[in-house]
Amino acid sequence: MSVVVTGAAGFLGRALVASLAADGIPVVAVDRRPPPDDPGVTALQADLLDRDPAVTEALRGADAVFHLAGRPGVRDTGAAADAARTRDNVHATAAVLATVPPGPPLVVASSSSVYGGAAGRPCRETDPLHPLGAYARSKAAVELLCAGRPVAVLRPFTVAGEGQRPDMALARWIAAVRAGDPIRILGSPERTRDVTDVRDVVRAARLAAERGVVGPVNVGTGRPRTLAELAGAVCRVLAAPAELVVSPAAAVEPAATWADTTRLSRTLGFVPVTDVDDVVARQAGLATAAGPASGSGPGADRLEDRRRWAVEAVADVETQAVPA
Ligand code: NAD
Repeated sequence: MSVVVTGAAGFLGRALVASLAADGIPVVAVDRRPPPDDPGVTALQADLLDRDPAVTEALRGADAVFHLAGRPGVRDTGAAADAARTRDNVHATAAVLATVPPGPPLVVASSSSVYGGAAGRPCRETDPLHPLGAYARSKAAVELLCAGRPVAVLRPFTVAGEGQRPDMALARWIAAVRAGDPIRILGSPERTRDVTDVRDVVRAARLAAERGVVGPVNVGTGRPRTLAELAGAVCRVLAAPAELVVSPAAAVEPAATWADTTRLSRTLGFVPVTDVDDVVARQAGLATAAGPASGSGPGADRLEDRRRWAVEAVADVETQAVPA
């Protein structure tokens, strides 16, 4: 058995490769950045649009394919960013779809961004798509390519946990608090995000392949968190107070995201529950309730000890609006 993971050097890809390899499943890890080459992993560094013969052979012969390669990030603007999204999201997906033969399960990463946000209720897979901005539109185009094919299309909601991309909010806030800088919130502290543990995204992807799921599936918790709540978790876990600075959000940023988990529960048999303090602690390389993070130094303190003396610090969080 051999499984191909594209985007294997990325945030989600690394987590998926590690999970498969830990279970002894041979993985071919494809990425144009150096993919992980852990035991049991064959690393192929190549661009999906370069039609590398080794990548083509791996995609043709795989028992399952997870296509996670793509150009994430909603905020980049300009012609170059749009062209990169079209290339890496739309054209790369078309290349994978054209290469993988019918039969083995194919799981493709779309995004919750295709909904354009939640308006007072959770977003369902049957809702009309309302993509805001070029990133979301590129993911809607990815879904269009997959439509009518036996492909599982995952719509992850704001993924968090170890290895989160540095441009994502929790990663930026952890870095800011550590540097003694304010936490910059876009839009309003009352905006909400359905935050999903990367471990649950990996679990969902694997189950989608095992169960031969076809069509779109939300991968979220159904429990949105306010940005204030998330920022509070960063302060609490790092045991450091921080000022909250609110900046205007771009129009492409929805005010709220919220997953309906009915289809997820029915098709994959579970609904993720995110322990925000735990994902923040793991992202920050700190110990969790389950035990110390790998490595030593100050990060190996037990989270419970840090929580005890963090309570007062969090109570000091202030909100300050900053003009545009
Ligand atoms: P990431 O940027 O960390 O990883 C993506 C990887 O794909 C990178 O390593 C990149 O080098 C690789 N890649 C891109 N284009 C390629 C190409 N043409 N050929 C070969 N490799 C290529 O992103 P991530 O956060 O791990 O996201 C993975 C996927 O999940 C993306 O498609 C993203 O849009 C989607 N997604 C992510 C989130 C999230 O919260 N992280 C949420 C929803 C959807």
